[in-house]
Amino acid sequence: MNLILFGPPAAGKGTQAKRLTAERGYVQLSTGDMLRAARKSGSELGNKVAAIMDSGSLVSDDIVIALIEDALAQNKSASGFIFDGFPRTVAQAEALDAMLARHGKPIERVVLLEVDAGKLLDRVAKRFAEEGRADDNPVSFKVRLDKYFAETAPLLPYYEKQGKVRGVDGMANIEDVAKSISAALDAR
Ligand code: AMP
Repeated sequence: MNLILFGPPAAGKGTQAKRLTAERGYVQLSTGDMLRAARKSGSELGNKVAAIMDSGSLVSDDIVIALIEDALAQNKSASGFIFDGFPRTVAQAEALDAMLARHGKPIERVVLLEVDAGKLLDRVAKRFAEEGRADDNPVSFKVRLDKYFAETAPLLPYYEKQGKVRGVDGMANIEDVAKSISAALDAR
């Protein structure tokens, strides 16, 4: 099954994607992780996106679409993909549909992690202290949250019209969120 984990930054998408990978064997495709790996490797791409990422803005559609295209090509035998942090714009959602039409199965579910945006600030302050991710600083995080509401949340109606969206309580503890996601995936 191909699914999208949807929700604002720090909603828990990465944590839940990793659990699903372990439980179901689906391949996690996180454009954020791919971009961070590119930066770590010191590649041209990594250097190009570093300042944009640290500011909390979105990198260009072309870049992330190409990363996903490559990852799909490299994982042809996957039983499913978990899209985490992609798509984030209408152009990315359209490109994803076109790529999946070529590569195999369409998106079956969009799992929306429903969270209290106000409480995310506390959550991310903790993560900033623990992990030191540059874009978790309060100024960049505010930009990321604003980008989510301006560019990404408007994708929901696109998937809602297709009957694919299932909301789960993302403020529950990690185990309970995982259970709700499993139920959302297994329900017809
Ligand atoms: P994330 O780990 O998903 O929160 O992504 C971290 C940062 O990487 C974002 O704030 C963006 O700068 C960039 N990024 C990740 N995925 C995308 C995407 N699909 N479109 C544009 N920028 C992205």
